[in-house]
Amino acid sequence: MKMLKKSPWVSNYDAGGCNGCILEIFALITPRYDIERFGCQLKESARHADILLVSGIVNNQSKERLKTIYDQMAGDKKVIAIGSCAISGGPFKDCYNFAGPVDKIIPVDMYIPGCPPRPEAIMDGILKLLGFKDDEGKKQDKKRA
Ligand code: SF4
Repeated sequence: MKMLKKSPWVSNYDAGGCNGCILEIFALITPRYDIERFGCQLKESARHADILLVSGIVNNQSKERLKTIYDQMAGDKKVIAIGSCAISGGPFKDCYNFAGPVDKIIPVDMYIPGCPPRPEAIMDGILKLLGFKDDEGKKQDKKRA
């Protein structure tokens, strides 16, 4: 398993939508999924976060907030777009106030599709972004060969 220099801190911004994705993100810190066993901590403020999870539809009101939050993050920041709304507008893509997918507003490093995506998929994406699964996958591939 890859050694990290520090515990990755993760924050979430919900830009709109139905809150379904938020509930799946919060499930990550429950005993069932327990993402803290990988050192990840969910933080309220993106100023302290290494990874920003963006869920929900970005509308004309939340667009500027999203840009501000991204600018407030320090260092080698990463962004994951969670769910159909964040990736493409999902069921709200034809709404009058849809301001565009997240990657048209800030840089996105990973996309996790679904409406909503399962907590397993979100956790898998975070760990892949951190490089955990790459090492594990390579070991598994060697065993199979
Ligand atoms: S992707 Fe689906 S579950 Fe997530 S906020 Fe949009 S409508 Fe809700």
